[in-house]
Amino acid sequence: MSEIFGNFINGEWVDSSSGKTFKSVNPANIEEEIASYQVSTVSDVKAGIEAAKSSQTDWSAIPAPQRGTILIKAAELLEQRTEQIASEMTREEGKTIAEAKGEVGRSVNILRYFGGEGARFCGETIPSERAGVFSYTFRKPLGVVSLLTPWNFPIAIPVWKIAPALISGNSVVIKPASAAPICTIRVIEALNQAGLPKGVLNMVTGAGSVIGDELVSNPVIKAISFTGSCEVGQSIQQKTASKGVKTQLEMGGKNPTIVLKDADLDLATDIVINGAFFSTGQKCTATSRALIEKEIFNDFVALLVDKTKKLKVGNGLEQGVDVGPCVDENQMKTVLDYIEIGQKEGANIICGGQRLMDEGRDKGYFIQPTIFSGVSTDMRIAQEEIFGPVLAVLPVEGFEQAIALANQVKFGLSASIVTNQLNRTFDYINQIEAGLIIVNLPSAGVEYQLPFGGTKASSTGYREQGSVATDFYSELRTVYLKY
Ligand code: NAD
Repeated sequence: MSEIFGNFINGEWVDSSSGKTFKSVNPANIEEEIASYQVSTVSDVKAGIEAAKSSQTDWSAIPAPQRGTILIKAAELLEQRTEQIASEMTREEGKTIAEAKGEVGRSVNILRYFGGEGARFCGETIPSERAGVFSYTFRKPLGVVSLLTPWNFPIAIPVWKIAPALISGNSVVIKPASAAPICTIRVIEALNQAGLPKGVLNMVTGAGSVIGDELVSNPVIKAISFTGSCEVGQSIQQKTASKGVKTQLEMGGKNPTIVLKDADLDLATDIVINGAFFSTGQKCTATSRALIEKEIFNDFVALLVDKTKKLKVGNGLEQGVDVGPCVDENQMKTVLDYIEIGQKEGANIICGGQRLMDEGRDKGYFIQPTIFSGVSTDMRIAQEEIFGPVLAVLPVEGFEQAIALANQVKFGLSASIVTNQLNRTFDYINQIEAGLIIVNLPSAGVEYQLPFGGTKASSTGYREQGSVATDFYSELRTVYLKY
């Protein structure tokens, strides 16, 4: 039997009042159970929120640089367990072990970075127009914040919300996605061991449809940071808008890579493959549309298909595997549905398109990296987020059409271009509708010290990561002091 984890409330691991648990399984082999977690109830959530409320004033009274030392210590503790946590992540979420180790390393960096931000939790001094008046700003924490996270970056996303929330002096209640909660538990263990006071960080597991509303609507909650699908994000915003609760939503993408005719085809195909298929396409920043200048379209596509067919799909723990499984049966079905929809819409599969059931892959949720051509921009596979290893390739007449098509979706998370033309590069930077604007690199793959977030339907516009992340988790106060 797999280990059963409790909720973390007021510094203790506790069972849910439901008396029930749910299991996570390995998406590469569904016969392997990973762990069991609490099926939480609204009263469990209330207990977490109460614990957070009781601890927050004392926590915020600790000087920010001292709060930072706890985050830095937690980074060290997490780093020591990199191998274990990465292996658990691969077994629960499916990504390759190299990707999982990279993600743990990034989370360690995020904790160190925001630990350091404790000493830089600054306001400004601003000259007053009146003599003898000293005027300045400083930051106040918001109070209790609610964090809702998805499964696809099961350690990085919880950490990139928890760390700025805590350094700003807030107390937290977090609910990780049910497909992959184990990494959040490891982060809590590290922060707890590093000396985080009781009640400052609380976690409940369970279905968003059952406990999400309390996490969003409880009057104690002063801010909500959510990463996940547009559908759930929009439903949260409807509930919080009328109440004036600060709401940060980071949602889906339909990210383009534009390839201009001067591009090095070897580099361009590597960039598109990395963006489209690594992490099984389960990244909000994944490339799902490649817009290729018509002069190079055939050569580009031939090389792309050739390289894509060589990708090894399998259990992410095995050496040499490039692409792991879909996270669960639902996600796999969604991807297979979109493959069928694309065909019905009249697009052509030029690579992949099938579930893989051979060579021991019958117990997992494996799908071949899939490429569609003959795609028009009004098709659903060109407009909707699929969140799997599926790419549409479209020829374009030139730069202007590439930009027009790139922008012709509701999303605006990330975008990339492959070219050596300086003027085109800056035209692209100025015209592309995306929060993350990338040149000669894949649309996915960002760094923790730079602001992260989208535009249009992808985001509410508050940025995560980088020093601006604390803007969401704090509020400025302005002081006029006559001396
Ligand atoms: P999801 O929207 O199903 O769930 C996200 C979180 O919200 C989970 O913890 C879930 O349990 C919770 N939730 C579900 N219903 C809720 C409700 N009614 N109230 C409150 N919380 C609720 O998303 P997912 O399937 O876990 O993740 C995949 C999605 O996340 C994709 O759309 C992807 O693009 C997006 N994503 C975006 C970013 C980004 O930064 N823009 C990063 C990663 C993933």
